[in-house]
Amino acid sequence: MIWDDLDLELAKRRDQGLLRTRRTLQSPAGPHAIVDGRPLLAFCSNDYLGLAADPAVAAALADGARHWGAGSGASHLVSGHLEPFQQLEARLAAFTGFARALTFSTGYMANLAIVPSLVGRGDAVFADKLNHASLIDAVQLSRADHVRYPHNDVATLERLLENSTARKKLILTDAVFSMDGDLAPLTELFALAERFDAWLVVDDAHGFGVLGPQGRGSLAHLGLPASPRILLMGTLGKAAGVSGAFVAGTESVIEWLLQTARPYIFTTAASPAVACALLASLDTLASPDGDTRRAHLQALIARLRAGLAGTPWRLLHSDTAIQPIVVGDNHAVLAVAQGLLDQGLWVPAIRPPTVPAGSARLRVSLSAAHTLDDVDRLTTALAAVAAPAP
Ligand code: PMP
Repeated sequence: MIWDDLDLELAKRRDQGLLRTRRTLQSPAGPHAIVDGRPLLAFCSNDYLGLAADPAVAAALADGARHWGAGSGASHLVSGHLEPFQQLEARLAAFTGFARALTFSTGYMANLAIVPSLVGRGDAVFADKLNHASLIDAVQLSRADHVRYPHNDVATLERLLENSTARKKLILTDAVFSMDGDLAPLTELFALAERFDAWLVVDDAHGFGVLGPQGRGSLAHLGLPASPRILLMGTLGKAAGVSGAFVAGTESVIEWLLQTARPYIFTTAASPAVACALLASLDTLASPDGDTRRAHLQALIARLRAGLAGTPWRLLHSDTAIQPIVVGDNHAVLAVAQGLLDQGLWVPAIRPPTVPAGSARLRVSLSAAHTLDDVDRLTTALAAVAAPAP
């Protein structure tokens, strides 16, 4: 039968330790999760500032639904562009320092929108090899040449740009790499974009809200200007705690996206209540309370790194909330994750194809909602699990 192949393929994945599973939470997202009736200390979520279950944000969502209703009714360009979205876009533009911003229902869709709107056949996208899956798919959708450079290797990228005969060039990178936690060399990438007259598209899914003054993101963190050749994509379901994404740029590039980006045009606008919740979350994110949350997050990162220094665990070099511990083998990482689970700790095991083969890892992600004691519990639990031989 037509579906027999699927069962074979699923069995193969199970044997290779590659089957993905999901757990159902009976609690709000946060470090103290209830899963299958059991309390777990979770280090899984991208809710870096602890805003996903914040009472003020949840109240803004509820108030927003009461005032604006549950649904938007149509796409933004038909009749779904309700006032809270307009306010949110103005806020995001002002916050990031760009002339204009456009919101999307997800970061995945924002990325699928940006690349095909800027480049097509005969053009080239220069992309970091560790870019997020949505950026990889975006390039494929654009039909531009996909020129991939080794992770953060600016010298190779420079050579590739020099040798390129493409009509238009676009440099595409995560700002904070989602499975490694390190930062892209954005200053150097911007200099290359200037020299070769290329676009620089920065996916700041994991930097927005966390890095830079007031959490303005990775560009602000590195002191980069809101250049007309930069497009900044930020997601709103991670540090901002709700869902959605935005793209910020010049008046004309945002107008171009609005006119041409199919993942913007042909989809129903998100619930207006989501925009209301995001306005509340931006209030906190940019406030002294936001600074306190970011400072606490830094303290948690330092505590974890100090706690694992000198142990056999291979922590990748990362200063961000994403603290990966590379184990290597798929089955071994599952065994470690299970060992932690047995002690009541939930840390996701990330395997290929999400990360390169042979580099399966625990992706520890920290949140301002964690306490220092939570981090110590993780360090202690890891000590009780045998680390795989280096
Ligand atoms: N870019 C990066 C770097 C990401 O890590 C993610 C989500 N994991 C996305 C884009 C997609 O964002 P969203 O979850 O809002 O679709």
